[in-house]
Amino acid sequence: MTVQITEVRITPVAVKDPPLLNSVGVHEPYALRAVIELYAGPDLLGLSEAYGDDPSLERLRRVAPALIGLDPFDVHELHRRTATALGEAPEDMPTDMIGPPSASKTLAATFAAFEVACLDLQGRAIGRPVSDLLGGAVRAAVPFSGYLFYRWAGHPGHPDDGPEALTPDSIVDQAKDLVARYGFGSLKLKGGVRPPDEEIAAIRALRAAFPDHPLRLDPNTNWTVPTSIHVGTELAGVLEYLEDPTAGLEGMAEVARAVPMPLATNMCVTTFEDLPAAIEQRSVQVVLSDHHFWGGLRESVILAGICRTFDLGLSMHSNTHLGISLAAMTQLAAAIPNLTYACDTHIPWQVEDVIEPGVLRFVDGSVPVPTTPGLGVTLDRDALARLHEQYLTCGVRRRDDIGYMRSIVPSWSGIRPMF
Ligand SMILES: [Mg+2]
Repeated sequence: MTVQITEVRITPVAVKDPPLLNSVGVHEPYALRAVIELYAGPDLLGLSEAYGDDPSLERLRRVAPALIGLDPFDVHELHRRTATALGEAPEDMPTDMIGPPSASKTLAATFAAFEVACLDLQGRAIGRPVSDLLGGAVRAAVPFSGYLFYRWAGHPGHPDDGPEALTPDSIVDQAKDLVARYGFGSLKLKGGVRPPDEEIAAIRALRAAFPDHPLRLDPNTNWTVPTSIHVGTELAGVLEYLEDPTAGLEGMAEVARAVPMPLATNMCVTTFEDLPAAIEQRSVQVVLSDHHFWGGLRESVILAGICRTFDLGLSMHSNTHLGISLAAMTQLAAAIPNLTYACDTHIPWQVEDVIEPGVLRFVDGSVPVPTTPGLGVTLDRDALARLHEQYLTCGVRRRDDIGYMRSIVPSWSGIRPMF
């Protein structure tokens, strides 16, 4: 069977995003994503979803012409062509990526964007789901964690779109709502927003309301080492894991030695190059994979193998994303036996999407793995056109939680650690 890519389309979209708070600021009214379509003839299409900020789009567009004629089954050739088109220089990083810029990180993210679409194409060409291309699904449904955020009721100047959540009681109310709507069996609070003792109180309130739910807290490195040890000690026996309490492998290692629960990360281990030192120093016990910046679905399977070898737990990170990425995350998680933690997802916070509804749904907090060919999702062309139009008019071109917060709170520094 000959399959060759004949056309590449990259369409930036903007979706409405609620005012979710984090350690550096607040989500802007719109979040950006790029929708990638790889055609192999008029009827065979592979989809992917990637970062939609200006630096990412520029790189995707630079690589796109080099993919014409590529066999989508040859992802090593895809990697070669992506690397050649990008060149060696570290550049402006995608704004959803973490840590210092490097050529290998931008290559991994750009390659990943096209690799997912190639795997979707492969699956559609042979009539098998992507999970089959990754070794086969070991679970029929993938558990996700209910992602709780401190938040405002609405963006300044926009109508309110949900209840404010700034106290332990309101976080519990938010959790009850998410669990009622989606059935989540575990909960994660995005922390580093309120003073640490308030966040300890919020976790204790969640524990009282949900006695059996595994609980996680992620302050995105907004705490010093002593603060991290204080919180970890106070929440002994309560947290499933504590995620990125403080910055850097050394700081994390110091915290890890002093607190009883595992430490997880999507910030101090973000590339394969970070793993040897993290393992040597015992900085983390759980790695949060993310195919968008770990270099795609197949590289994420390799990461899983390394985690198994070194007895590291494996979970999954999420930035704001839409249904194509949820499908990719679900297909990937289904095919990794040692991905035993519920995955993160922002989907409950998104009210707009680019896929036709109905395929991906939450049942008891889990997404049943599509068994149709490829990723299993179909582009909603009307929605794509509408959300692209929204991109053109919304004015956001790169994620800037700090700058947006400063436009509302001029004294905001966004400098970590704040506590
Ligand atoms: Mg995190």
